[in-house]
Amino acid sequence: MKQDKNMPEGMENWHWMMYILQTIDVGLVVVDKDYRICVWNSFMENHSGKLAQDVSNRPLFDIFPEIQKDWFQHKIDSVFLLDNRAYTIWEERPYVFKFKNYRPITSTADFMYQYTTLLPLKSVSGETSHVAIVVYDVTDIAVNRMALKKANKTLEEISITDQMTRLYNRSHWENCLLQEFKRHARHNEMASLIMFDIDHFKKVNDTYGHHPGDVVIKSVAQELLNSKRDIDVAGRYGGEEFGVILVGVDAEKAYYFAERLRKNISELLIEVDDHKIRFTISLGIAEISSQQECHTDWIKCADAALYASKRGGRNRTTIFVEGMES
Ligand code: GH3
Ligand code: MG
Ligand code: MG
Repeated sequence: MKQDKNMPEGMENWHWMMYILQTIDVGLVVVDKDYRICVWNSFMENHSGKLAQDVSNRPLFDIFPEIQKDWFQHKIDSVFLLDNRAYTIWEERPYVFKFKNYRPITSTADFMYQYTTLLPLKSVSGETSHVAIVVYDVTDIAVNRMALKKANKTLEEISITDQMTRLYNRSHWENCLLQEFKRHARHNEMASLIMFDIDHFKKVNDTYGHHPGDVVIKSVAQELLNSKRDIDVAGRYGGEEFGVILVGVDAEKAYYFAERLRKNISELLIEVDDHKIRFTISLGIAEISSQQECHTDWIKCADAALYASKRGGRNRTTIFVEGMES
């Protein structure tokens, strides 16, 4: 770089640079090959509470035993060895130096998130004799990024969840069914689908009102969530109709699950608005099969079995067989 004619030379120039390095709002640490601290600027003093004179010429890992020594020493060593820069990023490890976060605007973080850059410093002989560690406070960026990520996750959850029952909503549940159907096409994996519907639900609404009706729907959803395994996929298919995909389960095993759910629900006594409500459900089961051309055919089979249960007197479970009418 060409020297500006107004710029002082020699010692005065050096003095300015030292002043800037001292007061700049990034951390600056220089270590030698034994990891002894040679430079410790005021950013480091302010955030660590340790003065330059107290840390000078002492090994970094003695002063900061909480630094992950194996990992960070390896980083420093690689800079000496390869004569190349190295970096640490908060996304992988939130910080190198554990400093309190003082920024009121980002008060949700207890500590300072950091990026660091490690630079090789050469001696006059041209050999890398020291490493500079530049510490950037990226707490604002990290906190904003994490808040955005959390908000996106919440939005995604809302978009796939039925707000009343906390089960999957119909579109997401059907999409899961489609994925399960495709998996079957590729790997011939077993799965069973149960569709079920509350019996005479109109009567619940007509007798007790819409709010008690809602409580009944919610209690069915809760019972379903309590009895299914984590891998089973439960959704609200319609007003008081539900679907559950039992992964890796044949129709016979699905029948045991369905019957247990049916009995548990028939034993519920819902107390709401001074009413005591009992009710039942009817269920239909269809095993996945190569006869079904698409996932909606699978639903049609389970639906046909469900309506066989309704026709047969309700409060029962039916397994789909070929020729069953919907
Ligand atoms: P069936 O035994 O044949 O199933 O008789 P049903 O009376 O249950 O008949 P159907 O399944 O057709 O009744 C659905 C009723 O559910 C109609 C609708 O008013 C009511 N419903 C749908 N969604 C909700 C809801 O979110 N809350 C309440 N309270 N009622 C609902
Ligand atoms: Mg019904
Ligand atoms: Mg219905």
